[in-house]
Amino acid sequence: MNFERSGEQTMLVETAKDIVDEYGESYFREKRLADEEPEEFVEDLADAGFFGIPIPVEYGGQGMGMLDLVYAIEAIAEAGGWDAVAKFTLNTVFGGVVLSKFGTEEQKEEYLPKIADGEMDWALGVTEANTGSNMLNTQTFAERDGDEFVINGEKAFNSGLDQADGYTLLTRTKTMEESDRRTDGLTVFLVDPDADGIEYEPVDLDIYWPAGENTFTVHIDDLRVHESQAIGEIHGGFAPIFEVLNPERISTAAEHLGRGWWVLDKAVQRAKDREVWGEPIGAHQAIQHPLAQSYVDMKSASTMVKRAAWAYDQGQDNVGELSNIGHLQAGNAAFEAADNAVETFGGGSAVADYGIAAVWSLARHQQIAPVTDHMKLNFIANNVLDLPRSYGR
Ligand SMILES: Cc1cc2nc3c(=O)[nH]c(=O)nc-3n(C[C@H](O)[C@H](O)[C@H](O)COP(=O)(O)OP(=O)(O)OC[C@H]3O[C@@H](n4cnc5c(N)ncnc54)[C@H](O)[C@@H]3O)c2cc1C
Repeated sequence: MNFERSGEQTMLVETAKDIVDEYGESYFREKRLADEEPEEFVEDLADAGFFGIPIPVEYGGQGMGMLDLVYAIEAIAEAGGWDAVAKFTLNTVFGGVVLSKFGTEEQKEEYLPKIADGEMDWALGVTEANTGSNMLNTQTFAERDGDEFVINGEKAFNSGLDQADGYTLLTRTKTMEESDRRTDGLTVFLVDPDADGIEYEPVDLDIYWPAGENTFTVHIDDLRVHESQAIGEIHGGFAPIFEVLNPERISTAAEHLGRGWWVLDKAVQRAKDREVWGEPIGAHQAIQHPLAQSYVDMKSASTMVKRAAWAYDQGQDNVGELSNIGHLQAGNAAFEAADNAVETFGGGSAVADYGIAAVWSLARHQQIAPVTDHMKLNFIANNVLDLPRSYGR
């Protein structure tokens, strides 16, 4: 892997920063305090082609890769647009990347250009209240009826569904008992979130969460879908869902990186500017060492996330290992950076204007969603170190 940014990647990063700078810090602060999505900003990112980065050129995208997407997400969030970057996971990964790999020609032609242009938003329906991290135990069931399926079930925490035009939905088409392996009998459908048979209500969150990504409990009651709406093979849904997991870890790790850099920069500035004993608080090692450690951890996580994205683009078979490591490191580094910023800002960290507590709570919950640290460590323990599996036997 070449550790230098390519000319194209440098251009992506600079364009991203320019777009953020055009809006300026006060725009993002006002949007956040008003709990409003930065819509104009998202439109500008769409017009500049950012949502189509990893979508093939023949379907209206940029024909670039996950590494390029990581550079873009990290740069946008680091410059101050961190409220808006989840759109890349929702639209570009859940819609664009999955359909690029598993969509039929018809699905690709219909949806990919609109995702690339930012005309279509997307959501993912995997988690269920009673199955949680045990995703393969999905209870939402799609029963065949001629060339259609009738779907019933409930999903939990499906983000962005109110704005979504497309919904990637994980179901079982065979029960666990009927399936030879736990990974058999799953089917993913491309669903219209406004179709009859789908109702949803927002989860009342007690943490800071960006306005455009409200998360919902979904009730699915006799939803009819045609078999042509399957993404990938009927009963073979593990492949497209597995395909979501690694790029999702990579894009959300890039979100962590950008927010971590942003909050670390704010903390360093505060440590330089604020004096309470006649010298900057950053002169005290209790303040400067944690910030220096965060810089070290962020640098190291940033390298690992890019390595994971590069491995994904090269089709290497260690992507699962690298994207779990990258996500774990980026999540920890970003949360620690935010926690050190809380310490550095002192009481100021609780003042909404600064955004420190917002990043802190966001970083902590993005260590849980899309996947908990335990499950990432389980992956490394069981699939890399070949240690015995302690659960789901
Ligand atoms: C704000 C928000 C947005 C979200 N958006 C989406 C979305 O768009 N689409 C979607 O499908 N989901 C979404 N999720 C759901 C998210 O992916 C899950 O919350 C996450 O996967 C964890 O599942 P759970 O909450 O059911 O926790 P649980 O599975 O109940 O886990 C609880 C605790 O037990 C631990 N645990 C469970 N099993 C094991 C094990 N085998 N070994 C060790 N520890 C274990 C976990 O690590 C965790 O610490 C979102 C969640 C949140 C909070």
